[in-house]
Amino acid sequence: MFGWQGKALRINLSNGLVRTEVIDEALLADYVGGCALAKQIARLEDISAQNNKLILASGALTGTAVPTAAFCGLASYDQIREDVTCCSLLYHFGPELKACGYDVLIIEGKASKWSYLFITEDKVEIVPIEPELSPLETERVIRGKFKKWYSNDIRTLCIGKAALMRSALTGLVTDGLLVNRSGRFGQIFAEKRLKAIALRGTEEIKLAKPSQLQQLVTDMLDSFREKKQTFFEAIHAKFVKIDLPLLWEIHHHGIEKRACFACPIACLHTRKNKFLPNFTVIFCFARLLGIDRQEDAERLYNLCIDLGIDPVGLSLAARCLLELEAAGKIAKSHFRLGNTAGLMQLLKDKKAIIHKGNVGLAKEYGLEAECENLLNIINKQWEQIFSNIENFSEKRQVLNALGLCDYALLIFPYADLIKAFSFVTGKELDKTFLLAGNRA
Ligand code: SF4
Repeated sequence: MFGWQGKALRINLSNGLVRTEVIDEALLADYVGGCALAKQIARLEDISAQNNKLILASGALTGTAVPTAAFCGLASYDQIREDVTCCSLLYHFGPELKACGYDVLIIEGKASKWSYLFITEDKVEIVPIEPELSPLETERVIRGKFKKWYSNDIRTLCIGKAALMRSALTGLVTDGLLVNRSGRFGQIFAEKRLKAIALRGTEEIKLAKPSQLQQLVTDMLDSFREKKQTFFEAIHAKFVKIDLPLLWEIHHHGIEKRACFACPIACLHTRKNKFLPNFTVIFCFARLLGIDRQEDAERLYNLCIDLGIDPVGLSLAARCLLELEAAGKIAKSHFRLGNTAGLMQLLKDKKAIIHKGNVGLAKEYGLEAECENLLNIINKQWEQIFSNIENFSEKRQVLNALGLCDYALLIFPYADLIKAFSFVTGKELDKTFLLAGNRA
């Protein structure tokens, strides 16, 4: 098999059993990878509130040299939505899973005490850990234990203290970077007493047409470098149109660029080694929460990193609170639009109803339609950024199954990304492939 490793790793936290399974090629042909594959495996595993599992599936191109091939899908059963749900993991986690020799990771059961998983090509360890640690402390503990053998090249995905507060906003942090829209997944980690997953692998990916792929990638990178306008300027021009000066302020003072695996765009930024809010978060903070000062946005984002809170879920929940207050359904809280300190105070209070999350709040107080509208505000942002891309939502689903970033559509020809699929896997894109994307 080319592109995929063809193997799934199943770990049962209850009894410590670990099994390697062969993935049905027909499943990969139909669902390709990412959220489409993760959700289909979740259905086949018949996951539910009583039988919940964490299912990670890398994209078909994840871990290859194709620009932005860094993504993988994470699916699980969401008790509030009463359905299987999926989020995309970025940075280096998906490529490292493939380097461990697996396309899919299935985690079931519940550990008897708080633990993390350490996975390499030839072993799986379930190691006890303190649940109170912040995500950054957790990463330090894991690297400290294993770096003697694996240097610092260990990739992590972990939760923070928000999980102990049973917050529906509990998100995931990978190598210090918050995963947008990962709210709820953190709680599922917590239900399993799983503090983190750490990966380290060196296995290569077999390519169907390596020399053609190398030439294609070289051409794509050459044309990317020749473009006069940087990606940031292109994005900034779009944000200027929607009047978001905060973006420029946050990303122009003593920043360092960071990139996901194989990504020349490098849209992520750090200052003093700490990640800064990315475009989507800046948009949510400004539009949904009225936060328009650089220091406020960064303070709130730092608290999210520290507690392990999904910043997009937080923005939706906080705004939902205001809708409920306006409708007279709840008493007024400390939070007003633009009042970062009030919101931070709310977040630290584990009894505050903001921790029910936007879906939980909307359901409990019967304001589903109003809270759903808030999602449309975010979706509109995407439409504006990708307004020049035809059939954006279909292409986005296909990219997700391939393990590529949406932003690749702004820089690279879609046809080249699809060509890369055939050079990596030896298969052609056809209607079935598009359908697979649509099933995500
Ligand atoms: S564009 Fe940004 S989010 Fe997308 S792969 Fe590159 S660094 Fe990651």
